[in-house]
Order: sequence, then structure tokens, then C-alpha cells
Amino acid sequence: MLHKELPIHLAPEKLCRHAPPEGTPLVGEIKLSDLTNLSKELKAKPDTVVTVNLLFSMDADGLCAITGELSADLEVICQRCLAPMIYPLRAEISVSPVVSDSQAENLPTRYEPLWVPTGEINVAEWIAEEIHLALPLAPSHEPPCVSFDSEEESS
Ligand SMILES: [Zn+2]
Repeated sequence: MLHKELPIHLAPEKLCRHAPPEGTPLVGEIKLSDLTNLSKELKAKPDTVVTVNLLFSMDADGLCAITGELSADLEVICQRCLAPMIYPLRAEISVSPVVSDSQAENLPTRYEPLWVPTGEINVAEWIAEEIHLALPLAPSHEPPCVSFDSEEESS
């Protein structure tokens, strides 16, 4: 049972505009198996839970700001020793929804553009995308790699 399920779709701009001054939180959990467009490697442990802790607000410049963090202990393959390892992913989110190139170009550098051409985003797609962006291309154990033997001993 998940702690709190997330909506399937949401309209970021609307959420920000209607948010109280302290912002509207979006807090919940989603399983990797519920994410769409997830890479093959990350599907190895579909029950892994991603914790979502985001805040939708209007910033001082009147921009819609979505800030916070996604976290998950992902099982990935160490690219040095090719053994599975847990990568403690912490993805810092700081995005603002945009509908056009010019809007994206004019965004202050503190935000990444979040493309929302229809005004709505699919939460599962978006979270999968942010996870892929935050995941290193070649994750590896902190050197030196733990050998298979000592890993078995410690478990
Ligand atoms: Zn390794």
C-alpha cells in the first residue's frame, strides 16, 4: 500500500496560480512500475517507490515555480564491476512551465523549462523523465568496488 497516491494528470500553471502564498504541496509516492517511458534498466525492481515532495507556488516575479525533490533508492548496474548496486537518487526539482521556445529562453536560470504545451502534464511521464535526467550516465560504486565475496559476507 502506498503512502499517498499522486494524481495522474495535473495542470501546473493552474496549481501555481491558485496556490496560497506558501504554495501548494504535492507530496506522495509512486512505484517505478507506474511510471511510463522508464528505461529498461530501471524496470528491474518495479516495486521501488519514488518519494515525491514538491511545492507549486508563484514566485516574486510572478512565475509559476515547481520546486522540491524526488527521491528513490534505485537498483542500477555498477558500470565498473557490473554488479547491481543501490543508487540513492535525489533529484532536485526547480522548473517552471513553458509553452513556447521564447518563453523557455526568457526563463531565469534558476528554473529549467517544463514543457506543458497542453496546459496539463502526465505526472508519471514527468517523474520518469526527471529520474532519467538525474541519474548519472555511468553509475558506479564509490571506489573501490566491493567484491562479490565481501558483499555476500555482509548480507
Ligand atoms: Zn562496482
